[in-house]
Amino acid sequence: MPTAAIPPDVLAKYEPVIGLEVHVQLLTATKAFCSCANRFGADPNTNICPVCLGLPGALPVTNEKAVEFATLASLALNCQVRERSIFARKNYFYPDLPKGYQISQFDKPLAEHGWIEVPTADGGKKRIGITRLHMEEDAGKSLHDGFSDSATRTYLDLNRCGTPLAEIVSEPDIRTSDEAFEYLTRLKEILLYAGVSDCNMEEGSLRCDANVSVRPRGREELGTKVEVKNVNSFKFVRAALEYEIERQIEVIESGGRIMQETRLWNANEGRTYSMRSKEQSHDYRYFPEPDLPPLIVSVEFLSEARKKLPELPEARRARMIAEYELSVQDAHTLTAAREFADRFEAAAKTARNPRRVANVLLSEVGGRLKALGLEQEQSPVSMAGIVLAADLLDEGKISSKQMKQLFDVCFEKGEDFGPVYEREKPQQITDAAAIETLIDEVIAANPKQVEQYRAGKKTMAGFFVGQVMRASKGQANPALLNELVSKKLEG
Ligand code: ADP
Ligand code: MG
Ligand code: ZN
Repeated sequence: MPTAAIPPDVLAKYEPVIGLEVHVQLLTATKAFCSCANRFGADPNTNICPVCLGLPGALPVTNEKAVEFATLASLALNCQVRERSIFARKNYFYPDLPKGYQISQFDKPLAEHGWIEVPTADGGKKRIGITRLHMEEDAGKSLHDGFSDSATRTYLDLNRCGTPLAEIVSEPDIRTSDEAFEYLTRLKEILLYAGVSDCNMEEGSLRCDANVSVRPRGREELGTKVEVKNVNSFKFVRAALEYEIERQIEVIESGGRIMQETRLWNANEGRTYSMRSKEQSHDYRYFPEPDLPPLIVSVEFLSEARKKLPELPEARRARMIAEYELSVQDAHTLTAAREFADRFEAAAKTARNPRRVANVLLSEVGGRLKALGLEQEQSPVSMAGIVLAADLLDEGKISSKQMKQLFDVCFEKGEDFGPVYEREKPQQITDAAAIETLIDEVIAANPKQVEQYRAGKKTMAGFFVGQVMRASKGQANPALLNELVSKKLEG
């Protein structure tokens, strides 16, 4: 609907209000209430049984691992975990739900009152509240495409029925589409660190519904919200929110009213379409699940879960910034994936100077990967190769220029640093007399800089080291060069 761009002064009159509902599939071996395999990609309708199909007389049994994962997620999201939560039936008819209801939680969810911290545009931090985290089972899947008769038929794959989910509902604390993007990025990172979900949006293991309304700035009361579904990447969530915010402002500005409804995002067209008027919770006829006892999370279970929780991304970044003298940006790069951060830190420990490992990794390897549009996993250089480079540099066995040349070869030939170094064994000038000759030439050519140095500007030494290094084509032994430059300048 937003056709022409809305003038900035009109946009500025309104404040967007956003709340996100995120479903994540938990990485258990079996389903939430039966022993069927919980696995993506199996042949359709092979991982099913009377329990997850809801056949008469079949009884669910709660998967303890699913409870553990949901509890880990709750703790990682700073929630208070309820000792006694209640499973409830959420009743509705849909072809992919043979039971006619999902086992979920309603008024007594597993966890409440959590938060995630997100960075703000002005460089600060903001807490987004998490209203609740509850356990739920997934429904099956309708297959609309891929069959010769897809034009006239829809097929069903019920493998997903009964897959354990955690639903994480945010408070309406989000104010911009960028904040929503940050919230999702942080949430995914935390869940990956906690190891409870693979958060793979393409495979549907993380799904997001975005709720959004607008209100005149300064007004307390919330506007009528619209729920946008079918947004299958974080970028699309941002785009859908931007679209929807403008659409709502346009409706209000032209004297209309926002309808409480569910809308679908169409990524090809970059717009949302009305799907149905929003269902209310009473439409689901929630009632306590009669086949399951209350879910008890004992004090012992909770403290065991707490022990299993790894250091989480925010805390890890803060520690690594101090330990490796990183910028915030670099800390984000190194900690984005826990497995990678673990490998980095394990390798850095073995090096002479761990900070230098971070530096080589980020500036030499990271820089080249970025320029080539490659992912970390596609790097020809291993962590051990990076440690070797850092150590050689640290011991002065190669100059930084030589290191750069070696990395160039690694990336040209797709080889690791070790073999390239062994083959090329860059030459070093370790003959003091030869280096002194070069220093004398540079000193003679730069009288002004010599004067500055002798007048007390000691940092000038770096200038001479750089010039001599260049004159030696990067081959002067760095330690010797440093030593001789100081000696000559002082002398
Ligand atoms: P419903 O029962 O309609 O699903 P909820 O109260 O459960 O609504 O809220 C669902 C999500 O919508 C939550 O993330 C919440 O923060 C968000 N939300 C609620 N009211 C608004 C509003 N007026 N504008 C934007 N988001 C809202
Ligand atoms: Mg809801
Ligand atoms: Zn089953």
